[in-house]
Amino acid sequence: MAEAAATGAAAVTAAAQAGTIALRLEALARAPDGRWSITFLDSHGAVAEHCTAAALAARVAAVAGVLERESAPGAPVLLVFQPCVDFLVAFLACQWSGRLAVPINPPRRHRLIARLQAVAADSGAKVALTGGGVAEQVAHWRADSTVLGALRWHDLGGLDLDPARAAPLRAVDPQATCFIQYTSGSTALPKGVEVSHANLMADMARMEAAWGLSPASTMVSWLPAFHDLGLIFGLLQTLFSGCPVVQMAPNSFLQRPVLWLDAITRFRGTHTAAPSFAYDLCNRRIAPEQREGLDLSSLVMAMNAAEPIDPQVMETFTDTFGPYGFRRETFAPAYGLAESTLAVTASPVGMAPRLFTLDPGALEAGRIALAPPSTTPSAPRRSVIAGCGAPLADVPVAIVDPQTLRRLPPDGVGEVWVGGPTIARGYWRRVEESAATFGVRIAGEDDPNGYLRTGDLGAMIDGELCITGRIKDLIILSGANHYPQDIERVAQAAHPALRIGSGAAFSVADDHGGVQVVLVQELERTQRRADPDPLFSAISAAVWENLELQLARIVLVEPGAVLRTSSGKIQRSANGRAWRDGALPVIAEWRSARERGR
Ligand code: ATP
Ligand code: MG
Repeated sequence: MAEAAATGAAAVTAAAQAGTIALRLEALARAPDGRWSITFLDSHGAVAEHCTAAALAARVAAVAGVLERESAPGAPVLLVFQPCVDFLVAFLACQWSGRLAVPINPPRRHRLIARLQAVAADSGAKVALTGGGVAEQVAHWRADSTVLGALRWHDLGGLDLDPARAAPLRAVDPQATCFIQYTSGSTALPKGVEVSHANLMADMARMEAAWGLSPASTMVSWLPAFHDLGLIFGLLQTLFSGCPVVQMAPNSFLQRPVLWLDAITRFRGTHTAAPSFAYDLCNRRIAPEQREGLDLSSLVMAMNAAEPIDPQVMETFTDTFGPYGFRRETFAPAYGLAESTLAVTASPVGMAPRLFTLDPGALEAGRIALAPPSTTPSAPRRSVIAGCGAPLADVPVAIVDPQTLRRLPPDGVGEVWVGGPTIARGYWRRVEESAATFGVRIAGEDDPNGYLRTGDLGAMIDGELCITGRIKDLIILSGANHYPQDIERVAQAAHPALRIGSGAAFSVADDHGGVQVVLVQELERTQRRADPDPLFSAISAAVWENLELQLARIVLVEPGAVLRTSSGKIQRSANGRAWRDGALPVIAEWRSARERGR
């Protein structure tokens, strides 16, 4: 592991970090034999759009011309697109003209306009670019919201892009902010992270080195382009490394997961990325007959990141798709967050994911103790944890006590703190939150740069960062640490009527100065009228047997009711608030005997 990191460091040359993504595009557009291109697939997997670097650069320069006329250098520009090539055009036009790109997803349903409105107001943008068929919706947004109504909207589809009015590439300060990445909003309202040109180039140089990207690679991505993973790894990395990208809309994948693996097969994809839930979806929703004809042998790496990694999902995926060319070592677990641009740690290519079996008692006490690998299939699965790889080159990672701010001993589980060149400049227009999160010093240590506090809990095991959960979601019962995702997973495995990945466990204060645990759980669509009593018994028994934890309440809700971010992450505290406010569509609710006795 240490060796791999050292090799990575050597490969991250100063030259690779220099410049901006717009300069990369310009160079690719000029190279006569470059391989870069973008191919956009429709919801049937057919090619809907194809664009070379030269054609892209011409369109980017033309849109940059519009931005030059419509906004000032350094001004934020809101990008509201349905998935399409023009999103990339708009993003790069901001880079070309030195404007701040602010990507945000269009609201799917009317009520989700709140997020768009909040981001528009927070960013201070006066201009918005749109495309991919949202023009009609824009009229509604403008009518319904003063903030959105005050923006000057330009739909790229309808713009008359006169090449004679294209803008020349504008020189920028590499330390200046180049885009504002709003966080997912898993734990609180989304915050805008200011990412600089230098941050972006530094992270992509490190990812290129760790994962062997080159012009010979081919990226396949269905990830949303308005979040860091889909934007930076799925799109910009391909311009950085000069390799082609095949993209499709997240919805195409969610509706027919096989389209992702089919695209890898047809285009000989070498690199791809997804959160654990997507591999799980492939395991469960790609029928044996749909697997015929798949060939995943071209894949060099399949990143597994952005949410907790379930080792069992990787195991099942390898078993299911092994006969179709997928190799265990193709999985590349990684960890990162918007505040560090994207990646913090990475398992290098060619190495199988590392799994560690932990002593659950030590974990509850905030320590790591390795347990011998379990041989009994009934052992609780929570004790097996996947490593997220080693820190990228020149990226210091420290495990720190979140209360005392002191570095913990090597076996300690604590807050993950990160330093180095990929740490973003701060939160856009949030001075206090930036000061509390960025550039924080470890007590008793003399480091002039300080660290980013990630809010995540984890430990270093044998050079690998292992993430155990988030500080804000942690459930502390009688001094023992319980992770909500363990409770949700054990509960969901207890009965087939319960939707996998669609629960939220959280703690609430009880009337006696203590804490009790509530589980909100979705039912499968076909099981909404099922007798709830056997479900309640199965869940409470499984949670007790596996985790020695007594649930106070189980709340069964309609499918789709559990609150999530736009990227699909469970918002545990928001679910807690919604439950307390009576805002969840409850099908049945159970109280433990102890609760009923009160
Ligand atoms: P918000 O900050 O608005 O609450 P968010 O933290 O989910 O939302 P992102 O920056 O998009 O926003 O996601 C980063 C977070 O995702 C990390 O802080 C971590 O909690 C989680 N994460 C990323 N990779 C992993 C991983 N490999 N294992 C576990 N969790 C991960
Ligand atoms: Mg976060």
